[in-house]
Amino acid sequence: MVEEEERRKYSLAILIILLILCWPAALIYYFTRPKVKAKPMRTCLGCGMQIPVDYAVCPHCGKKVERALPSP
Ligand SMILES: [Zn+2]
Repeated sequence: MVEEEERRKYSLAILIILLILCWPAALIYYFTRPKVKAKPMRTCLGCGMQIPVDYAVCPHCGKKVERALPSP
């Protein structure tokens, strides 16, 4: 009976250690993950590059692009 309790404590300790080890990893992952912003993009007619829809001028070739109409 005592042995079983010891084993239970041991597995609980392992669980706690794993949690403690996982937290920094999760935090590091959270802060280093690539920030993917779902910004609407459009293709420039002048150079074919992807540019944000709120750009009035293409940052790659300088061609004026029509602003997309604000979504209703
Ligand atoms: Zn362009």
